Amino acid sequence: MVEKIASNLYRIEVPLPRNPLKAINSYVITGADRNLVVDTGLNREECKNALQSGFAEIGLDLAKTDFLLTHMHADHSALASSLIVPGRKAYASRRDAITINTFSGSDIDAHWNALRDYAVLQGFPQEILFLAVEKHPGNMYRPEHRLDFDYLTDGEVIHVADYDFQCIFTPGHTRGHVCLYEPNQKILISGDHILGDITPNISQWIEDEDALAVYFASLDKVAQLDVAMVLPGHRSIFKDCQGRINELKEHHSHRLGEVMRIIQDNGPLNAYEIAEHMTWDMRGIWADFPVPQKWFAHGEAIAHIKYLQKKGWVVSLQTEDKPVRYSAT
Ligand SMILES: [Zn+2]
Repeated sequence: MVEKIASNLYRIEVPLPRNPLKAINSYVITGADRNLVVDTGLNREECKNALQSGFAEIGLDLAKTDFLLTHMHADHSALASSLIVPGRKAYASRRDAITINTFSGSDIDAHWNALRDYAVLQGFPQEILFLAVEKHPGNMYRPEHRLDFDYLTDGEVIHVADYDFQCIFTPGHTRGHVCLYEPNQKILISGDHILGDITPNISQWIEDEDALAVYFASLDKVAQLDVAMVLPGHRSIFKDCQGRINELKEHHSHRLGEVMRIIQDNGPLNAYEIAEHMTWDMRGIWADFPVPQKWFAHGEAIAHIKYLQKKGWVVSLQTEDKPVRYSAT
């Protein structure tokens, strides 16, 4: 499905079968000298067919088309290497570009091992750990090959057609997430930093980080921009950027309150047990959630716990026992 949004600017809805996100938005900007595709899809047939028929409908010449990936998640990035013509540019932040290339590189086992070790330390059950990695979209639908990326810098301007897109570094959803802002048209291509109909997942998989605090700072950064239209990575285009930023902040402060109460009432608990107690926008009970959803929920729980820990409201218990358990101060 192709939708014309503005002059030389299109949205292609790329389906994500059996994925709660349902679809991902790929944005296409067409110019006389070159075109730009922002985000792609998973490296699977359904995504490739949808994107290629969208390209055909627009009349896109891939020989003149560059690709920009807002972040490293496979639903946005993995298909790019199958579509890009050799010699054309692939843009991403340095941080996320390196991770995208890890998925089709020889260092992939080390990547998953580090994630697995941290998940176990945070209480993820050994019995479903294998399945969580095996069924992870980043593993199942990884890129065909590595890309020779041009690394974006914060504030850099990408000129296509009549558009001047400023790269706005917005870490949080991933550590190298980038939004594109067009100040003349007041358009924000927001990737997964700001979504309208659903809440972006904020996960943490590294001890020495505060993903949620970083995400809040990136929301404040985008709140400074004069935005008339948000083109998100998933679901519908919307207008009220400022209003949505406020809702997302409210959502996470409500979530932090919930996690705090769970720890106060039931602690000490490990992060996986805390995730089990939290409310999720999924049908059915926790035990019936698909393993990949348990994995994403666990990551989100860790991000909220770590935020509370950095604030000094939660402590991790210093014992030899693994996994790490948390209690309220
Ligand atoms: Zn994402």
